[in-house]
Amino acid sequence: MRHPEFPNLTVLDHPLIRHKLSILRDKRTSTRDFKQLVNEIAMLMAYEVTSDLPLAPIEIETPLERTTGVEVAGKKLTLVPILRAGLGMVDGISRLIPSARIGHIGLYRDHESLSPVDYYFKIPAGEQDRTFYVLDPMLATGGSAVAAVTALKSAGAGARRIRFLCLVAAPEGVRRMLGVHPETPIFAAALDRELDQRGYILPGLGDAGDRLFGTGRG
Ligand code: URA
Repeated sequence: MRHPEFPNLTVLDHPLIRHKLSILRDKRTSTRDFKQLVNEIAMLMAYEVTSDLPLAPIEIETPLERTTGVEVAGKKLTLVPILRAGLGMVDGISRLIPSARIGHIGLYRDHESLSPVDYYFKIPAGEQDRTFYVLDPMLATGGSAVAAVTALKSAGAGARRIRFLCLVAAPEGVRRMLGVHPETPIFAAALDRELDQRGYILPGLGDAGDRLFGTGRG
């Protein structure tokens, strides 16, 4: 459902997504289950987000006769996880769209300034015709999301062919994206209340990267 306050945000609140997100938020959820759930939610989100994909007719032959079917038209979709937590969403979406190409953007958030620092950028050729799905489980301050979309546009990606997929969004991040990249649709499983002083989303689910990769220290 398109959000009433944020024209750039669609919250995908399918019951299965909400159910799985609640388990994800629970601090008792193990690293193994967390990883699996992130992939499952990403897959369910991809199913909904791709509902407007253009189709082209194709002729096929069934065992009985010729008929006309359809295939997804245009260049291959490109998933662009923001390293490292975005990687957790790739397998789930790839299972649904095995032909998707995968680019990578390496950005980390400086814990002092909360600003993104980029250290890696690699996307497949033909960027002007591709549709990019930028992946990051958490849209917090919006710093990484803004930087990733800016980097894609600078590399030649069409502004209207970029979408941002996250599990949990904070109002601050959605607002920041609306200010800088108003034409980039954001799809989230939930819009949470606010950020705390350290830039964590409340109620959130903690540090998505640490919970995905088991690197939390306490
Ligand atoms: N990144 C995370 O992993 N979690 C937050 O709450 C905010 C940013």
